[in-house]
Amino acid sequence: MRDTGGTAPGPRAPLDARRQGWQDWRVPLPLAPFPQMLPSAPFDHRTDVALAPLTTLDVGGAASMLAEPFDEDELAHVVRWADDSGVPRVVIGGGSNVVVSDDGFDGLVIRPTDYRFEVERAGADVLVTAGAGVEWDELVAFTVAEGFGGVECLSGIPGCVGAAPIQNIGAYGREVGEVVDAVRVVLPRGGRQQVRGDECGFSYRQSRFKQDWADGRVVSSVTLRLRPGAPATIRYPELAAALGVREGGPAPTLAATRDAVIAIRARKSMVLAPEDPNRRSCGSFFVNPVVAPELAGDLVGRFGTDIPRWDAAGGVKLSAAWLIERAGFERGFAFGRVGLSSRHTLALINRGGARAADVLGLARIVRSRVFAELGVTLRPEPVFIGFGRTGEELFQ
Ligand SMILES: Cc1cc2nc3c(=O)[nH]c(=O)nc-3n(C[C@H](O)[C@H](O)[C@H](O)COP(=O)(O)OP(=O)(O)OC[C@H]3O[C@@H](n4cnc5c(N)ncnc54)[C@H](O)[C@@H]3O)c2cc1C
Repeated sequence: MRDTGGTAPGPRAPLDARRQGWQDWRVPLPLAPFPQMLPSAPFDHRTDVALAPLTTLDVGGAASMLAEPFDEDELAHVVRWADDSGVPRVVIGGGSNVVVSDDGFDGLVIRPTDYRFEVERAGADVLVTAGAGVEWDELVAFTVAEGFGGVECLSGIPGCVGAAPIQNIGAYGREVGEVVDAVRVVLPRGGRQQVRGDECGFSYRQSRFKQDWADGRVVSSVTLRLRPGAPATIRYPELAAALGVREGGPAPTLAATRDAVIAIRARKSMVLAPEDPNRRSCGSFFVNPVVAPELAGDLVGRFGTDIPRWDAAGGVKLSAAWLIERAGFERGFAFGRVGLSSRHTLALINRGGARAADVLGLARIVRSRVFAELGVTLRPEPVFIGFGRTGEELFQ
């Protein structure tokens, strides 16, 4: 893979510093800082690492150990060691879709750091392969600047490439699964595998990585199939209106589309901005629910035909934000140290000094009131780390 030099490193440690640590993994490491329960690890790592600053929600305790493997070999080595040693492990990227328990994570947190990407011609397409540690939006910016169409509507989504296929990130009428050509993964105990995009079972905020492949696989790189010179794909009415797109009229440029998406997202506090009071969140806390047509029909009967809804596989998709507002919550609703974003009811925010328990408390209140008022069960979107239970189980 080609090192893209100055284009991609983002806020992480410089490459040389990271590699330096890795040169030393065969050398016995000092024993003192290791917690009693974990065996010593033959690779560069840190112990007792606060996880809150590594997440956008900024809550939760510490990880017993944290390793930042660079390439696939290093990643496989770390995974093999953890699995052979019986050490629980979890992966994080940008920490923008996770809630960490106040007790932290008693095990190894793996944070892939491969930030390289490369481009290969494939007939009329290009295959853009990016390491798991590439910042997703830097990759999008690169493809837009190169004129490769396919992910421009996914501009401004926080996080890293490695996480993009996990929940099939999507926004403004596009999902990454539409353009994933292949995913390379490190398997439990350090094996390797390359899977094709069409094997990943992508659907709305879902993939096999969250279902039958949720066995500890770690994504090491993702290959996107993009089209040089392709027009921007505009399917979302709000985006079309912002761009002044008319049916049959000329398609906007990729760059104009990216700018418009980021501007819309910024108005909803859905891009990370250090000065934004809504910045501590994990984006949408609940996925838009897909309900039976009968339930959707009841709601139309009660609230009129204007309610936001879309046909979806398995039923009718409703807007979780609309449901939350209908259940009586307003933007900016404050509940102690947590609340709802003042720009988007779907984002639960840490208003400062919150604990994971506060976030869960508010999420439970919102969820139970939506069910009581409207009969719809909301499912959480983020992944819960260190709770010993899945999001579904936590909210039962
Ligand atoms: C302001 C804001 C706006 C957002 N807007 C959107 C949006 O429009 N659309 C959307 O889909 N999402 C959105 N999100 C959610 C989030 O940005 C995405 O889910 C993103 O892909 C998460 O990437 P991450 O690197 O931060 O993953 P993390 O939060 O670190 O991890 C998320 C999950 O992926 C797993 N994971 C991470 N890296 C790997 C890897 N290499 N291999 C295997 N598993 C891995 C983790 O274990 C965890 O289960 C938003 C979040 C925020 C804070």
